[in-house]
Amino acid sequence: MMFPLALAGAGFLTPFVINDFITGRYLLGVALLSVVVTFAIDAWAIKAQRKPPIPYPVLLIPMIAAMGLSLSQQGIYGAMWAFPAVLFFYFVLPRLLANIGSGALLIASAIFINNLFGADVTIRFVFSLTLTIVIINIVLNVISRLQQELLDLAVTDPLTGAFNRRHMEATLGDAMERNRRVKAPASVLMVDIDHFKKINDQFGHDVGDKVLKGLVALITQRSRKLDKVFRIGGEEFLLFLPDTTIGDAMTRAELLRSLINEAELIKDRPVTVSVGVSELLGDASREAWIKRADEALYVAKETGRNKVVMGAPPPQSGASANSGAATEAATAAA
Ligand code: GH3
Ligand code: MG
Ligand code: MG
Repeated sequence: MMFPLALAGAGFLTPFVINDFITGRYLLGVALLSVVVTFAIDAWAIKAQRKPPIPYPVLLIPMIAAMGLSLSQQGIYGAMWAFPAVLFFYFVLPRLLANIGSGALLIASAIFINNLFGADVTIRFVFSLTLTIVIINIVLNVISRLQQELLDLAVTDPLTGAFNRRHMEATLGDAMERNRRVKAPASVLMVDIDHFKKINDQFGHDVGDKVLKGLVALITQRSRKLDKVFRIGGEEFLLFLPDTTIGDAMTRAELLRSLINEAELIKDRPVTVSVGVSELLGDASREAWIKRADEALYVAKETGRNKVVMGAPPPQSGASANSGAATEAATAAA
């Protein structure tokens, strides 16, 4: 948005600069010219994919000077420039800076107008510009709320409210980066509902859906602030635990497994899960990290379900005495 705005600003003001120089209003011409030059340089920088060299808040100085000169030389018509100037602030600056810039322009212009034209005009100017500022703030609030809702929709699964697979990739990627930079540990729990197909067959799809929602609610309820639960398949979930080593992750997994077993997600019919756990240990990729949890989950399924199994460490890592197969850590008969 900054490029067309800067271009429009420069384009619209240039005829006025020329007119000011032709008619001998040199000071006003210079003030406006500095605004145009700022716009032009920044527009060029944005086009060249560089950071705009002149920060927009600096524009406030020539803008206020131009406003004062315009009011004194051309009368109250000069006040009209305050309205597009305020709009411009809100479109290119962070909200707080835009509010400060608009407030400064409002106060400076009101002082000029009061000195030159009296209180009557000043009151009308102050009220109309303030109303404009308030309307812009309301509209921007609505836009940011809608934008946030869209962002939330893009990363969540509509049925359960868990995060989706796309967001998981970003989260795990960040965790790998943090692990590389500051050796921050992280673990994942791969959670899969046992015999979910039977639940659907026996109680119907709607009850199946309720189980999925209830399970996510339970996991979320028991999670810390930075933990994240992702739905990565029909009845398969991944719980991401930042700053958690394998020992703590296994404890959390076992707690979760027994909680779910006792939660009565369906009345008088226990719903159980199998869990595979793996810690990020110099894995070459997110896929490799997840695969170790997935293999552990497979072992849990193969050896009776309703249990937690620790994933084998990655081949090159000597983090555990165990080499090779996943290790069964906690077992509870279904
Ligand atoms: P296992 O213990 O080996 O994991 O067996 P399972 O029956 O849980 O696993 P399987 O992969 O055979 O079946 C998963 C079932 O989950 C099949 C599918 O119909 C059901 N499912 C997938 N998505 C949804 C959903 O959104 N709602 C409901 N109600 N069922 C779903
Ligand atoms: Mg299953
Ligand atoms: Mg499954």
